[in-house]
Amino acid sequence: MTAPRTRVALMGATGSIGTQTLEVLRREPDTFELVAVSGGRRLEELAAVVNEFRVHGVGVVDEKDRRSLSRLVSSHVEIVVGPEGLRELCTGPEVVVNAVMGFAGLPVTLATLESGARLALANKESLVAAAPVVARARHTPGAQILPVDSEHCAIYQCLEGSTQPGHPDVAQLLLTASGGPFRGWSRDRLGAATRADALAHPTWSMGPKITIDSSTLMNKGLEVLEASVLFDIDVDRIDVVVHPQSIVHSMVEFVDGSVLAQLSRPDMRLPIAYCLGAPERLAHHWGQLNFRTPLTLEFEPPDRVAFPALDLAYGAARRGGAAPAWLSAANEVCVEAFLGGRIGWGDIIPLVARTMDEYVEDPLASLDAVVENDARARRITHGNLPS
Ligand code: NAD
Ligand code: MG
Repeated sequence: MTAPRTRVALMGATGSIGTQTLEVLRREPDTFELVAVSGGRRLEELAAVVNEFRVHGVGVVDEKDRRSLSRLVSSHVEIVVGPEGLRELCTGPEVVVNAVMGFAGLPVTLATLESGARLALANKESLVAAAPVVARARHTPGAQILPVDSEHCAIYQCLEGSTQPGHPDVAQLLLTASGGPFRGWSRDRLGAATRADALAHPTWSMGPKITIDSSTLMNKGLEVLEASVLFDIDVDRIDVVVHPQSIVHSMVEFVDGSVLAQLSRPDMRLPIAYCLGAPERLAHHWGQLNFRTPLTLEFEPPDRVAFPALDLAYGAARRGGAAPAWLSAANEVCVEAFLGGRIGWGDIIPLVARTMDEYVEDPLASLDAVVENDARARRITHGNLPS
């Protein structure tokens, strides 16, 4: 008798992580069954996924999208709408991949954990913004987070031998950063950076928001916060190392000085496949390195003066409460404003810092508090944008 297939839901199926997850699933038809998907505005692409994988349920953003999609898929497919719809789709499957962009991914994170399933988490913003609420949901029996973010997936694998709560045997986590398109640029030169410059990432091809976050190093700042929550380690035991080749995906330094690292070619299908298959490893050809030709790996400290986003993120972590939620919300607003041509690249982080100056302490005790803080930080940031 063949083993039953693992039922998978993929939220954010039309994005960069979403389409790479579909590539992994296409190669493993006997192991995984895709039962539900969601997506934003690209309805023809979403319909193509629904029809190819014959999924049972699909989530869209609003009623208008529901009507348009219903003309493109079989009438047997259940179409659900909005955050409540996403929650429904995440309850039932054994694995949910959260590949939604930004704070909109929060219902997926919470519903999956509350249903006691495995969350393959790409959406770092939900973890950063709602850490105390997510921490409670993680206690649901069976609930598990496997990080898709390549750095965190690397650390997860390096920590497998370190099982004690709080990881007393770990000296520090070392998150690697490619440095983005502006590595080595002076502050003056950065002043003239354009949208095209910022979107030209040297080693990874990703969605627009995270590509801009990589150019400001806010992505790495959010990842420091993400690692702290995921692995329950204080940010003072997390450091960032620039590694331009993006081959060492991150490292763990233990108290005896040993450093464990995870290496592969930079390809997000590798961490995605790891999160779907763990503890098994799926055999595929995406990550293999060739050590028969010369390979040079470089490491250097980040330029914290040219890229103040990193210290802003550490500051938010030390303040705790809702400060990380404010940071992430303000950043989302500013990146959207930059992509829409309303502000320059050099305005993004100073505007986030301006919102953080107005931060009002809040312990973030409930989901309502998370939503209120997100909305408040967005309002303040919008108020500071040029009209
Ligand atoms: P993307 O913009 O390419 O795709 C985002 C997906 O989310 C799309 O399917 C879109 O339709 C959906 N979406 C956007 N807004 C939505 C909303 N309001 N409601 C419902 N669905 C919505 O983004 P991406 O690059 O795939 O990134 C997704 C997440 O994964 C982000 O949190 C990002 O930080 C994280 N991540 C991405 C990469 C990468 O290589 N792309 C690597 C690590 C982590
Ligand atoms: Mg990453």
